[in-house]
Amino acid sequence: MLRVRKLNARKRIALVAHDNKKKDLIEWAEFNKTVLARHELYATGTTGKLLENALDRPVRALLSGPLGGDQQIGAMIASGDIDMLIFFWDPMEAQPHDSDVKALLRVAIAWNCIVANDRATADFILTSPLMMEEYLVNIPDYTSYLNRKV
Ligand code: PGA
Repeated sequence: MLRVRKLNARKRIALVAHDNKKKDLIEWAEFNKTVLARHELYATGTTGKLLENALDRPVRALLSGPLGGDQQIGAMIASGDIDMLIFFWDPMEAQPHDSDVKALLRVAIAWNCIVANDRATADFILTSPLMMEEYLVNIPDYTSYLNRKV
């Protein structure tokens, strides 16, 4: 059974950046301000505040990442409330919430969420013609998992 989730032309984008990557994400967002204006933005707390200042527009800020924001975004991906994740995580520094980072990346893949972890990938995604169209995402079939005998 093939299940799909429809993404609207106006995408719901979650943005997260670890501290050493925040400058990079903000520069990227400022450069792409016009394109991003067509979409709905969500972010973890501190990233969200920086984005609001830089873009001069509202961003739906969740809790700060280490305080549960990553988990909130993960839950929204699982429930189909986020279409895309731009997550600039820091490969050079351990985070107090490493387990949350791993959980967020895992749940994003589990639901075929569109993910960029670096600026180049984010550029390729944002310049795709699909950013301005409706798109049907295939949802993996977890029926056998749900129906497993326990
Ligand atoms: P922050 O969280 O935007 O509140 O700094 C980012 C993160 O997940 O570490």
